[in-house]
Amino acid sequence: MRKLSSSLLALLLIAVSCQTTTQPVAPPAQPVVALSQPVHIVVVGTTDLHGWFAGHDESTAAASKPGYGGLAVLSGYLANLRAANPGRVVVVDSGDLFQGTLESNLFEGEAVVKAYNEIGYSAAAVGNHEFDFGPVGPDPVVRTPGQDPLGALKRNAALARFPFLSANLTEKTTGQTPAWARPWALLDVAGVKLGIIGLSTPDTPNVTTAANVATLSFGQPVAATIKAAAELRARGADAVIVIAHMGGRCTDLRDVHDVASCDPTQEAWKFLNALPQGTIDAYLAGHTHQQMREIINGVPALQAMPFGQAFSSIDLYVDRGSHRVVDSRTEIRQHTNVCESVYAGTERCDPKAASGGNSALVRRTFEGATVVRDGRLDALFAPYLQQVAAKRNEPLGVRTAGAFGRQYSRESALGDLYADALRAAVAGAEAAVINSGSLRIDLPAKELTYGDIFETSPFDNLIAVVKLTGAQIREMVRITSAGDRGILQVSGLRMTLDAQKDAVRPVSERDRVVSIQMSDGSALEPGRLYSVVMTDFLSTGGEGLGPLMRQVPPDRVTLLTDRGTMREVLIDGLRKVAREGLLTPKTFGRITVLNDDGRRD
Ligand SMILES: [Zn+2]
Repeated sequence: MRKLSSSLLALLLIAVSCQTTTQPVAPPAQPVVALSQPVHIVVVGTTDLHGWFAGHDESTAAASKPGYGGLAVLSGYLANLRAANPGRVVVVDSGDLFQGTLESNLFEGEAVVKAYNEIGYSAAAVGNHEFDFGPVGPDPVVRTPGQDPLGALKRNAALARFPFLSANLTEKTTGQTPAWARPWALLDVAGVKLGIIGLSTPDTPNVTTAANVATLSFGQPVAATIKAAAELRARGADAVIVIAHMGGRCTDLRDVHDVASCDPTQEAWKFLNALPQGTIDAYLAGHTHQQMREIINGVPALQAMPFGQAFSSIDLYVDRGSHRVVDSRTEIRQHTNVCESVYAGTERCDPKAASGGNSALVRRTFEGATVVRDGRLDALFAPYLQQVAAKRNEPLGVRTAGAFGRQYSRESALGDLYADALRAAVAGAEAAVINSGSLRIDLPAKELTYGDIFETSPFDNLIAVVKLTGAQIREMVRITSAGDRGILQVSGLRMTLDAQKDAVRPVSERDRVVSIQMSDGSALEPGRLYSVVMTDFLSTGGEGLGPLMRQVPPDRVTLLTDRGTMREVLIDGLRKVAREGLLTPKTFGRITVLNDDGRRD
């Protein structure tokens, strides 16, 4: 149901206005039809904005494509939704708000928080990348005494007029939720008491800089949710939803009851199947940059695409008498693409929607009115964008002959390129590795600017040269190919992995490495030391490498502190590997994956 009929809406509004807060003196002797109509609320979910507050403009000199995303346009959609559902719209985010664009990172996410305040977000989950900025200021980790590794996040939480929620996040010393966060929130929405529980992925220490979260514990989400839901129900919550930085992946979103396309290895799937039915009324997910729109173990589960491309939404009908959601009336809407203009006859602005000769762009209508971008937000963003424009547009003197794509579970053109660039940038390096998860978007086909490199890999990591034995290199590859965080992209190495091997064993015991050697075909000698270039994210134990890296003596790790961030080293290397300034997308057959399930990622 996209909209209520006006007569039903009128009835509902009367019902709402007639409601009082007093409870019935005694329960009815027999089940009877509720005296008042359930209250209709709409919950809107975004996730993994990753700093893309200003939207995406992929126009080039050669081709003009419509822009998409951006919080000013999102705000336009929400204005229409709120006009159609006055006082009954709740907007939440499932985490990873800040990390990812120059204009966000340079100010450590400030513009995103201010915009979320203007939009009127009710809560955000604590994502792993919320911790990336470390202390306030340019250092991404504590480098001088007195710095607080949580400083930038605390500053953002203080600036926010909405709470950061995580029920499974506690301080190791106190066992309590840190002061800058809350486990849950309880709101009043059109007379409905709506409980919102936040969750963070227990994998957080492996997918942010581990040192920044050393004082924090990321506990079991199921137990934390049951406890939080009980606290909320005890305080009179009529409905309880979860915003979780724990994602899923379902590839077919057409039928909410058909879960056959959902990946059962994903955190969201496991969580929802372990949660007792009736604990929560909806689950809004993030983190995996994939989509969900299904009912999993009785719970409506939603996840919208990242980077502000789309939002998810759900209609809940809440019976305040029984403090329950009327499940039969719950409606998970189709995800909504955030487009100011759309291809005629569609609700989309990605060029794929223009197929069939339909290339006319028209203004988007949503909830019966034209979507108008929010000028207040454009004004808010302008100073941030101006300050980074010069840096963003700095030409690198290198151009790409085509787009370089990414893959998580197999070799990618962008992975090969960046691993080669890191190796080329460091004299004497025999190999370089880069984690697939650090490559955030494809590298477009164009004259490259600093902004392009930034957006493919926005992390303020430094580069380290680590002397590893051949046996340690093999162990590094074993650990990073055993789970589902994504494999290492490599330069100087060649390997064969078996994607199905040891599937029944725990991740920590899996060995999917069939063979590994140097790229010239020579053997990787177990006892010999090799110079391997990597980010300090990996050299300090990211991607589950902590136990291995703790065995490496400190004098075998050289941090290239005088070379700038990983990006400056990458740019230096890209100039070296380019041929007459040109980079051509290619994979080199360095990583062979046996028993690949063929799923594109
Ligand atoms: Zn995340």
